[in-house]
Amino acid sequence: MRLVFIGPPGAGKGTQAEKIVARYQLAHLSTGDMLRAARAAGTELGRKADQYMSAGQLVPDDLIIALIRQRLEQPDCRGGYLLDGFPRTIAQAEALDLMLAEKGTPLDVVLELQVDDEAIKQRLAGRGRADDKPEVIAQRLVAYHQQTAPLLDYYGRAGLLRSIDGMGTIDEVFARVRSVLDPLAG
Ligand code: ADP
Repeated sequence: MRLVFIGPPGAGKGTQAEKIVARYQLAHLSTGDMLRAARAAGTELGRKADQYMSAGQLVPDDLIIALIRQRLEQPDCRGGYLLDGFPRTIAQAEALDLMLAEKGTPLDVVLELQVDDEAIKQRLAGRGRADDKPEVIAQRLVAYHQQTAPLLDYYGRAGLLRSIDGMGTIDEVFARVRSVLDPLAG
């Protein structure tokens, strides 16, 4: 199964992503984790990405697309994967479509986790990551609504979008995830 997971920052996407990759045995491709690892390792990519990440802005498309292109070549992606945090712009989604068309491995489903902005601000306030300061959270929400939410239309038109309610306990939300993904899992 090849799956894109979309949701605003703080929607609980990371928690659900861990449960999804375990249940369906998928590689977990989190661009946020990859960028934080690059930053911690002090690579050129990490240094470039840091200036955007710490401001709550998206890292430029060309850097992210190159990162994902390389990652998708790794052997663990052959058995299916969950893309977590990518694509985040229409340009990224178009680049992904092209990459996957070249490989003959189209996406199976795009899962949207829906949580409203007020719940997000409360959840993130309790988390304590460097980019979880209130003003940076507000900027990340702006980036989500302006740059990432248009993907919902894009994938809706492609007939790939399935949306689920992200409010409730971890188990309640995961039950909704399973009701969408179980029927798709080979
Ligand atoms: P969250 O979903 O909680 O906002 P992530 O861990 O997915 O956080 O991403 C953290 C930061 O990394 C983003 O705010 C952004 O700066 C950068 N980033 C991650 N993925 C992408 C992407 N696909 N395109 C551009 N920037 C990205």
